[in-house]
Amino acid sequence: MSKPVVAIVGRPNVGKSTLFNALAGEKISIVKDTPGVTRDRIYADVTWLDKTFTMIDTGGIEPDSSDIILSQMRHQAEMAMDTSDVILFMVDGKEGITAADREVASMLMKTGKKIVLAVNKIDKAELPDDFYDFYELGIGEPIPISAANMLNLGDLLDEIVDSFPEGAGTEEDDSIKIAMIGKPNVGKSSLVNRLLGEDRVIVSPIAGTTRDSIDTPFEKDGEQYLLIDTAGIRRKSKVNEDIEKFSVLRAVAAIERCDVCLLMIDAQEGITEQDKKIAGIAHEAGKGIVVVVNKWDLLEKDNHTMNDFKKEIARELTFMSYAPSVFISALTGQRVDNVIAMAKYVAENRAMRIPTGQLNSLITDATMMKQPPSDKGKRLKIYYVTQVG
Ligand code: GDP
Ligand code: GDP
Repeated sequence: MSKPVVAIVGRPNVGKSTLFNALAGEKISIVKDTPGVTRDRIYADVTWLDKTFTMIDTGGIEPDSSDIILSQMRHQAEMAMDTSDVILFMVDGKEGITAADREVASMLMKTGKKIVLAVNKIDKAELPDDFYDFYELGIGEPIPISAANMLNLGDLLDEIVDSFPEGAGTEEDDSIKIAMIGKPNVGKSSLVNRLLGEDRVIVSPIAGTTRDSIDTPFEKDGEQYLLIDTAGIRRKSKVNEDIEKFSVLRAVAAIERCDVCLLMIDAQEGITEQDKKIAGIAHEAGKGIVVVVNKWDLLEKDNHTMNDFKKEIARELTFMSYAPSVFISALTGQRVDNVIAMAKYVAENRAMRIPTGQLNSLITDATMMKQPPSDKGKRLKIYYVTQVG
């Protein structure tokens, strides 16, 4: 049931943020309660007709001041290719095509991903004479829009939704899908290698997955799992993962597709702002979560260390007190076996449905043991309880 991911790519100032905000609307501010996620929001859910997708604004990735526009755009484009199902390429209808537009267009075309071309700042109903020049980019039919005036956004959304890969949003099989999330260097790749064995073969990605995130199916104790690994590989390439937002966006894409997230924390560093931000995304998405505290081998431990760390988790990740934690060393293998067992436990709990009868007998017992409160002589009466979703 994963949601398709749509990434917006384009030069600075073409209107990416304006469009993002217009489409995401007030959704952006709903999330105030989750710490760390509110500011600089660069992804949001958009619903059009009966389809919901996650939109990410790669423009939210700021270049170093020394960075030139073109390299920034390359960066964005790689980011988009890496994480999305559909790329929304945006150009400026007032300025026309620039060299950077051409270069990025040809880069995007090579990916084989669906690309939708939006020509922004077409603020009037009649198209400018040079509008048809945009066909030159070779992407297909340009869609004129005005993000600022919210013109023609319906046509754009139609086109985006029509571009979703067959079956997107309906991915269904019985395996438990586990995503490994966490900031760079926390040990994601090491844990993946541990879990899958040393001689892990990198098979070609399963169709429908993004280029560099490898989905690896595996079986343990008769249960089928799918490991969504956005960890390794990419980091070794030219994209600089130090950019915090980059790893946040990667996490968004992985989280969308999973049942359970393994949120990895570095035991030595404790829980950082970036950890909280990533945790917040998983929490908001309503996914199961296991907090995996890694590099446990590096701590000097006494009888209290683990309890103290649990307290830190409870204090720093107050919004997800439901998530169990496990303390491991991907390096030595300590307790690594517990990770999958824990993920299974969480997946089962997440899917649990408690029958109405059972809930009601619980409430009957509870109200017998302790009467509900009364106010001005009237006692609260609970008629019945049911799990609705
Ligand atoms: P980004 O850098 O691509 O995210 O671009 P922004 O969304 O920040 O927009 C850059 C500038 O273009 C801002 O001054 C916007 O007000 C302006 N802009 C955005 N959309 C439109 C539009 O549809 N028409 C016009 N005329 N200006 C727009
Ligand atoms: P990723 O960026 O999250 O995929 O992190 P890596 O798996 O590449 O690990 C980053 C670094 O931390 C590497 O040098 C690993 O050897 C090291 N590392 C990973 N797990 C552990 C651990 O449990 N203990 C120790 N001491 N080092 C670890």
